[in-house]
Amino acid sequence: MADRTVLVSGAGIAGSSLAYWLVRYGYRPTLVEIAPALPQGGYMVDFWGVGYDAAEKMDLLPALRRVAYNIGEIRMVDRHGTPIGGFDTRALQAAAGDRFFSILRSDLAHAIFKALDGKVETIFGDHITAIEQDDAGVQVSFGKSQARRFDIVVGADGLHSAVRSLQFGDEDRFEKYLGYYVASFGVADYLQRDESAYVSYTTAGRQVARYALRGNRTVFVFIWIEDAKLDVARHDINAQKQLLRARFRSCGWECDAILEALDASEELYFDSVSQIRMSNWWRNRVALVGDAAYCLSLLAGEGAALAMAGAYVLAGELHRMQADHEAAFRNYDQSLRSYIDYKQRSALRLGHWFAPKTRAGVLVRNQITRMMSWPWIGRRFLGSMLGESFRLPTY
Ligand SMILES: Cc1cc2nc3c(=O)[nH]c(=O)nc-3n(C[C@H](O)[C@H](O)[C@H](O)COP(=O)(O)OP(=O)(O)OC[C@H]3O[C@@H](n4cnc5c(N)ncnc54)[C@H](O)[C@@H]3O)c2cc1C
Repeated sequence: MADRTVLVSGAGIAGSSLAYWLVRYGYRPTLVEIAPALPQGGYMVDFWGVGYDAAEKMDLLPALRRVAYNIGEIRMVDRHGTPIGGFDTRALQAAAGDRFFSILRSDLAHAIFKALDGKVETIFGDHITAIEQDDAGVQVSFGKSQARRFDIVVGADGLHSAVRSLQFGDEDRFEKYLGYYVASFGVADYLQRDESAYVSYTTAGRQVARYALRGNRTVFVFIWIEDAKLDVARHDINAQKQLLRARFRSCGWECDAILEALDASEELYFDSVSQIRMSNWWRNRVALVGDAAYCLSLLAGEGAALAMAGAYVLAGELHRMQADHEAAFRNYDQSLRSYIDYKQRSALRLGHWFAPKTRAGVLVRNQITRMMSWPWIGRRFLGSMLGESFRLPTY
């Protein structure tokens, strides 16, 4: 397969994982990444199940463990900072058979990219502008680079995938908005620090949380209800900050101090909580993987894991089916689809867990979290949440 070329759009978790496996199977992948370099910082992802299995197959666990975090406690506080719920995460660890850690999304993406060991041509700061398929290959135009031909093109370019828009149709045809927004940013030297704890405050329809990172950094996450999608441009950080101020000012707890820290921050992740639901993840010589194909949303968990698993299966099927890329894409779709459907459905139920709509809902949620530390309840509840996962095929 050394002569088979694959263009992968996006050098994130799915894209770099796919390139890793394609190289292992003798393909010649090229990564094109819109950012000028792999981003640093960002939010934390909990990592277990099929992601853990995929990382193990890539011999990545030691590297990931070195940069991972062990968040020992989920702590819910009231408007004065008094603990009113939460649990010791040993229950989570036990439910996942000790195959669980938390890691910055950017650290995970960096580690996977590093595993490529310089063997993959990577074009940073560019993006695909047009894709034309014919029987023999795909002609691709870029924003900056010369147009080129590839045998296969894969969109691993996230929730707002350009490959999906170019080949399958507008985003709004596939996006299911779940009624929440999420924002996250990090700063150095925030005064309050609770090492190894995820400290969160919830008031009806709004949650804000913080966790401490190495290097005296703190990351904050906001999750809140919006009945309809907001008219805020994706890159307009000032408008996004203004909206956060309007939603969280004088909200209680440390909200005002966090908004002050936000004023000084130049980074902000801000997006709707949405899923991507498509009946088909491929068309002729173009396929999608990760959030681009089947974004689960943060409510479901395992998005990063399924980005890695999808890449593993997609590359494995291409290897298994050799020249028949359509059969490979079909097998890839069939292998993952029922688990993706299940995860996407489960996310719909979990929204209330993050940001209950009413004060009574917040109280009930907090009480339930207290019970997670009771071994029997923790094992049962978390075990059912974490225990079920997709099993990676062998190639
Ligand atoms: C706040 C939050 C918390 C989360 N928590 C968890 C969790 O606990 N556990 C979990 O498993 N998952 C979690 N997720 C989900 C997880 O982050 C995603 O599912 C995962 O990052 C998807 O990986 P991906 O590679 O498909 O997409 P992305 O991580 O979005 O990567 C896409 C890449 O493509 C690049 N790109 C974008 N557009 C273009 C373009 N036009 N051309 C070229 N490149 C492009 C981007 O710069 C990026 O490098 C969370 C998500 C959020 C928002």
